[in-house]
Amino acid sequence: MLKKDIVDTPIFGSNEEQRVAPKTEMTKEGTAEDIAYQIVHDEAMLDGNARLNLATFVTTWMDDSARRIMAETMDKNMIDKTEYPQTAEIERRCVNIIAKLWNSPEAVNGQYCMGTSTVGSSEACMLGGIAALFRWKKRRKAAGKPTDKPNFVISSCFQVVWEKFAIYWDVEMRTVPVTAEHITLDPEQAVKLCDENTICVVPIEGVTITGLNDDVKALDAALDKLNAKTGWEICIHVDAATGGFILPFIYPEVEWDFRLKWVLSISTSGHKFGLVYPGVGWVIWKDKSYLPKEMNFAVNYLGAEVPSISINFSRPGNQVLAQYYQLIRLGWNGYHDVQASSLNVCLYLRDELKKMGIFEFFTDEMPNPLFIWKLKDDPKRKWTLYDLSDRLHIQGWQVPAYTMPADMEDVIIMRIVARQGVGIDLADLLMKDIKACVAELDALENPTNSAEKWNKKQPQSQRCFNHVR
Ligand SMILES: *Cc1c(COP(=O)(O)O)cnc(C)c1O
Repeated sequence: MLKKDIVDTPIFGSNEEQRVAPKTEMTKEGTAEDIAYQIVHDEAMLDGNARLNLATFVTTWMDDSARRIMAETMDKNMIDKTEYPQTAEIERRCVNIIAKLWNSPEAVNGQYCMGTSTVGSSEACMLGGIAALFRWKKRRKAAGKPTDKPNFVISSCFQVVWEKFAIYWDVEMRTVPVTAEHITLDPEQAVKLCDENTICVVPIEGVTITGLNDDVKALDAALDKLNAKTGWEICIHVDAATGGFILPFIYPEVEWDFRLKWVLSISTSGHKFGLVYPGVGWVIWKDKSYLPKEMNFAVNYLGAEVPSISINFSRPGNQVLAQYYQLIRLGWNGYHDVQASSLNVCLYLRDELKKMGIFEFFTDEMPNPLFIWKLKDDPKRKWTLYDLSDRLHIQGWQVPAYTMPADMEDVIIMRIVARQGVGIDLADLLMKDIKACVAELDALENPTNSAEKWNKKQPQSQRCFNHVR
């Protein structure tokens, strides 16, 4: 029973509120519920305002009903398909709906498609990569050939998950450098890096660093030629963390998905432009036969086999339910309109930045609601984009500055991602602050650049880690 004095004491008059919160050790006694709540709530206030974060790809706004669904169902464990068969059924529906968006031949025939929800794109990419590795191993073993030196090919603009994949599963990562002339994956160069030990090539739709799309169709054609000549079966896993929920709505005619011969698996982040709070991702295979049997720990419920394919075990089921909510709430038109308006906000911002006359853009293309720019050369200018990023941070905005990967590592760029919840009005307020910050930096005798010095010392993955998500 609560002691009376605890019940009657106002939160900010309590003894607990007079103490510093425990940092390294548990306290012996607990804390009253409302005070514990207040302490954690108040500490979280120090995090940035997610809506002003123009660095992240991850959803920062959902409607009240979505939040209600998530709160009501956060006790459901996704892995427990026997206890929560309806959540499992809804996961299968989501897999099918997304597979259909990606023109899966199985979805077209109205069957259940092969795929799973994951905790995010990272797990989904891993699963796609492992499946390619296992298929390659099986073919090599059948041919009596060694399986100790697998590799995969990707552009140097890879997201850090692929470095992890290479290290965890001991697969060599071969990177095609991007250059100012070839700022996306060059299919000819990619094919040149392939050999009999190549398990797959990984194009990216919505390259994290640039916002551009690798040309999957050209890559597919180049690989088809190579495979025909050599008898290899080098396939494609598309990392569509961003593009998976943009391309089907904005460019349905572009062929980047299961319409292409060698695209056997695709992954995406449900919590990026799938418009769900973190963390949910999806990976789908073109056909059941492309998921190696040893990766499918199928469970039986109510007489049906439900695929269980994941690296994590227990995981919240409410994010999958929230994904389903978004799919039925928005429908195709709703997703189209939300993504189109995010693109519009980016176009508006780019036009406004262009008018300032001091920035340069790498391409006119903007396939995804994010874009990058750099400063025009000016020997008189004493500040860099790192300084501008710092200044904006003081105003509460997070607009990251970072350097490009190998072969363009001297180029400092700035990036903006617009998501659901970043409207024209907010963009306008940002522009006002950018102009004010630039004027301030121009007027300073000694603009600091500590961020630049810090960033330069970091390895690529770390350097980008803070900002590129
Ligand atoms: C964000 C991203 C990832 C990692 O996705 P998570 O959902 O955060 O795990 C992987 N690849 C690309 C291209 C990304 O943009």
